[in-house]
Amino acid sequence: MLRPTMTSPTPSVLNRAATELERIRSVPKHDGVDFPRSCVQILRTLPGNKTCMDCASPNPEWASVTYGILVCTRCSGRHRSYGVHTSFVRSITMDAWSHIQILAMLEGGNGQLKRFFDRHHMGNTSTRYNTKAALFYRSNLSQHVQAVSNRGVYKGREASRQEHAQQVKQQQQHQRQSTAQKQTLEESTTRHLSRQQQQVIQVQ
Ligand SMILES: [Zn+2]
Repeated sequence: MLRPTMTSPTPSVLNRAATELERIRSVPKHDGVDFPRSCVQILRTLPGNKTCMDCASPNPEWASVTYGILVCTRCSGRHRSYGVHTSFVRSITMDAWSHIQILAMLEGGNGQLKRFFDRHHMGNTSTRYNTKAALFYRSNLSQHVQAVSNRGVYKGREASRQEHAQQVKQQQQHQRQSTAQKQTLEESTTRHLSRQQQQVIQVQ
């Protein structure tokens, strides 16, 4: 059992959020619902989410669902100008949301993207969302969110990350096993061949 950290939601908030998410799972994407209350509670506690991702203004009310980040009204306008494929902007308070979009917000977060941009030495420029690195981040997040959704009832970020790490480990193990099997097969083929060659030499 994980000990809740400073930013982890309490188990009851997490349970309520999971119920909210299950309730809206079957709502068609274009209908959507208000951002559920317990999900908002979790969203507000994610590292970095108390200020705008781009200009650090307090209490951002807009989101770029593409990156799972929160931005202020002014920066949301700039994000809109990037186009919906680069940054899809929604209001936390006024727009309707789908199951997968809410999951993207709960699995993303300003702190996480900031760390990613820092690692790539991308500073705080408006062009950073139009880079290959940003494309990598958004496609990764989208794949991750789809996987979290497919796993069933939401168990929170830490559980998602643990399950993801476990999956990667299993994949690596599987890869190592198949490489070892391939090597064994190659070795026995080589042995078999060299025996055949010896026989050929003997026959000659
Ligand atoms: Zn801003």
